[in-house]
Amino acid sequence: MKKHGFLVDMDGVVYRGSEIIPGAREFIDYLRVNNLPFVFLTNNSRPTKLDIIRKLKRFNITAYESNVYTSAIATAQFLSAQHPHATAFVIGEGGLLNALHEYEIAVDDTSPDYVVIGEGRTWTAENIEKAIDFVIAGAKLIGTNLDPSPKIKGWMKPGTGAILKMIEEATGKKAFSVGKPSPVMMRNARKQLNLQASETTIVGDTMPTDILGGVLMGIRTILTLSGDTKKEDLDTYPYQPNYVIDSVKDIIPLLNKLLGLNGGRSTDYGSMSLRLHKAGNRRKS
Ligand SMILES: [Mg+2]
Repeated sequence: MKKHGFLVDMDGVVYRGSEIIPGAREFIDYLRVNNLPFVFLTNNSRPTKLDIIRKLKRFNITAYESNVYTSAIATAQFLSAQHPHATAFVIGEGGLLNALHEYEIAVDDTSPDYVVIGEGRTWTAENIEKAIDFVIAGAKLIGTNLDPSPKIKGWMKPGTGAILKMIEEATGKKAFSVGKPSPVMMRNARKQLNLQASETTIVGDTMPTDILGGVLMGIRTILTLSGDTKKEDLDTYPYQPNYVIDSVKDIIPLLNKLLGLNGGRSTDYGSMSLRLHKAGNRRKS
């Protein structure tokens, strides 16, 4: 079998809100049984690694710290590489603050090198005004991600993109976003797996982050239709995934074929693969 590893998006692929997506547990078990390395890759900068491990545990999915890579971690690594021991004014939550601390980026609210905006509900008029002031004074504006908001009534999270737009407009400065589809995050996640681009596949549900990120990195892309993207939306994008599946429930037969596996190495998965083969709604885009 060829050496291969996976970047697995979480929301919309493994779970939706507090519900596991059927087939997700079997997919992760399949990766472990076949010694296929993987990381859960999320643009959500709010949770810590431990928060994510705990959340997955509720779905009976076991993950270790080495299986988790968030845009908060990518942002901390990026800043540490660009400017070791830099300081930052941060609007964000535990996952971001923890990651910055781990990479020795100190929080500073007098004259920071960077203003870093992440997901969460800690923004206020006062800290946005401070952020604007620091950027005007020369601090560089960084976003953990620019995930699109779903623009539906009742959605109470304006998102990092909305906060960044406010600061960009007020300062005339453009933010740099580290999360997917930025190659910064994609490449670092792949390096965490110790793999080349040709040995890596991303599985995701969002075209402008997961799939575009994969296309930019030249890695194989598998779109699941269990989250953000409807089949009829696909035509509106100038880039396309390599494979499209309804959900991870259909992924094992596809991977068996792509990786030259025959029903998985463990007999435990033989019957499951057979059942999924029968469901037979695998498609190639
Ligand atoms: Mg997703």
